[in-house]
Formats: sequence, structure tokens, C-alpha cells
Amino acid sequence: MTQIKPHGGKLINRELTGAKRNKIIEQASEYQSVQVSTDLMKDVENIASGLFSPLEGFNCREDYESILYNKRMSNGIPWTLPIVLDIYNNDINEGEEVLLKNGDHIAALLEVEEKFDFDKRTHAEQVFGTNDEAHPGVAKTYSMKDTLLGGRINLVNESETPFYKYAMKPEETRNLFKEKGWEKVVGFQTRNVAHLGHEYLQKAGLTMVDGLFINPVIGKKKPGDFRDEVILDSYEVLIDEYYPKDRVVLGIFQTEMRYAGPREAIFHAIVRKNYGCTHFIVGRDHAGVGSYYAPFAAHDIFKEFPDLEIEPMFFKAFFFCPKCGGITNDKVCPHEEERINFSGTKMRQMLENGTLPTADLMRPEVAAVILKSGHPFVD
Ligand SMILES: [Zn+2]
Repeated sequence: MTQIKPHGGKLINRELTGAKRNKIIEQASEYQSVQVSTDLMKDVENIASGLFSPLEGFNCREDYESILYNKRMSNGIPWTLPIVLDIYNNDINEGEEVLLKNGDHIAALLEVEEKFDFDKRTHAEQVFGTNDEAHPGVAKTYSMKDTLLGGRINLVNESETPFYKYAMKPEETRNLFKEKGWEKVVGFQTRNVAHLGHEYLQKAGLTMVDGLFINPVIGKKKPGDFRDEVILDSYEVLIDEYYPKDRVVLGIFQTEMRYAGPREAIFHAIVRKNYGCTHFIVGRDHAGVGSYYAPFAAHDIFKEFPDLEIEPMFFKAFFFCPKCGGITNDKVCPHEEERINFSGTKMRQMLENGTLPTADLMRPEVAAVILKSGHPFVD
């Protein structure tokens, strides 16, 4: 059985072990250090585990600019989101090794290859297609420090996660898919609780392949998004009651949402390829926010990447059609007038009011789990 190759050809491993790691810990006080946020620390771990293959560290200028303007690394490999480390300009020099720390936690050793300034407005316009500060990704960019450090990282310590059993590395998911005998695996990105619209998307995808990898993003989100625990609990009960258990794996992708729409769709696909997925579901307004992106811009962008290798599965909309007599989609149902769409807004309002979303929006078992959580949303 052959498995899809990691992006760039090989799975990167930047995790230190043994004597090399011990030496850094022992001599920690001799290094200069840079404080990194929890989100950045997770991305350090994502680089180290090979989830961001072929990246071995934070972008240097040549790759950074190439990603901004060409959506590819300087060697031509598709890569759409800059992965950068921002710092206050200080006396760290190129060629030095510094520790990346979160509080007292030593996360990694960075081999500083380049130190450079960047233009935040250009960065925002290229990545998000806008410089409007109301866009959460733009606001985040404007709040970044002025200088970037590029270079390879060496992971020293992993951070704790409350969701340990879901936190699989690409090597682990690849082995798991192999054990299960899955040749074709479809990845599903979500930051939402399990609702009927997504269930149909996933099952439409799964119908065509051997296995489904449900892979919610766990990490910083914006107020009003669902809390991580609630997303995972909702999927546990949905899988338990409504999915063939030997054909589904639930695992988390720990990173922040960037809300970069189409560019993030490509990034999300690359990450799932590294996990070992051969297919990736792209629905409506993938990784979007507000009305910054056209509803299917995240479909169109895949045309620019015939060399991506992971295959996108595009879906427009699932809905209930009384005339067809069930849940169906725009490709097979001709009754445009009669369709009843899944309303995310309606679902959300019901949850906010503490009422059980109706069976046309959500499985009753899932709704019960969400309501039981008390407050399902990020404050
Ligand atoms: Zn119909």
C-alpha cells in the first residue's frame, strides 16, 4: 500500500532527543531567549513534528516574500501563509542560537539565520486581501512586533495539552491510516460543532474514499466561535451514534485560525496532506470571516496549484428539499425554490437562548451535549 508523500517529499523532524537536548537544558541560562505566545509555541511544535513539512523553521526573507507574492516558497513548492516569528528588535544577531520560551517553559532552540523588518500593511493586503482592521487577521498583523527572525528550530520540550488523546503527530496518523488499511483518506477541517450540514459534507466525502479524518482546529479563535471542548464533545457523540467507527478518526490540529480564506484553504490542505490525507473537503467560505471573501474563492484558488497532490473535494451546499424528500445538494436537486437551508444563524440563536436546536439542524444527541456544556461560545 502506498501512502501519499508529505508535502515537499519527506516528513520533517525537528525534535531534539538525548544528549543534545539535555545539553541545551543544562546550559539554558547561557542562551539569550525570546518569549513566544502559546499560539506560536504550538506552531513551533507543528514545524518540529513535520506537520508543516517542508518547513524546518520560521520563514527567512526570501521565502517570506515569495510566499506573500507568489503563494509559493522560493523553491517553487506551494505554501500560502507566512510562518513567522515576530520580536522586538534587540541585540540578537544572525548566526546566533536563541531559546524560544513561553514563560519558563523552554520550547525550542532557534538557529537565527536572518533578522529582518517587514511591512505590516503589505503583509495584510497580500495574505488577507484587505487592510481593514476589522478583519481579525489584519488586526493581529498590525499588533505584531516589527522584526522577524528566520531560521531552523529544534524542539526541546512539548507543551501540555488538555486534549492529549486527540493530539496526534503526522507520523502517528500516517501509521494509524496504514494500520486501518486506508488508501484514500479525506480530511475535514472545522472550527464548528457537529451539525447536520457538516455531517452530510463529511459523509459525501467518505462515500468516495476509505476513511475520514475529522480534524478540528484547536487554538485561539475569535469571540463567538465555539469553545474547543464543545467541538470535541459534539463530535464524540455524533461519531458514536451516526458514523461507522472503523472508518473515522477524530484528531486535533493545534494552531490559531488566521481567517485568511482561500490562502488558508491551501494551507489547511497541505497540513492534511502531511497527516496522510489524499483528499480534502472544501465547502463554502472556507476559513472566511464576515464577507471579506467570495463564497467560493477558496474553491477557485486550487486552480493555481495543480501540483498540490492532495485532491480537493468541492461542495457548495447541502439542504433539505421537501420535493426530493430528504437532505440533498445543489448538484443533484433541481428544486431551487423549495430548498430549506441549514441555518447556522438559527442554530446559533437557539443555542444562545438555551433551546435545543431542531432535528433539521442538528442531531438531538449533539444538541444535548452542547447545551449541557453551559456556555458553548468563546467570550
Ligand atoms: Zn429537490
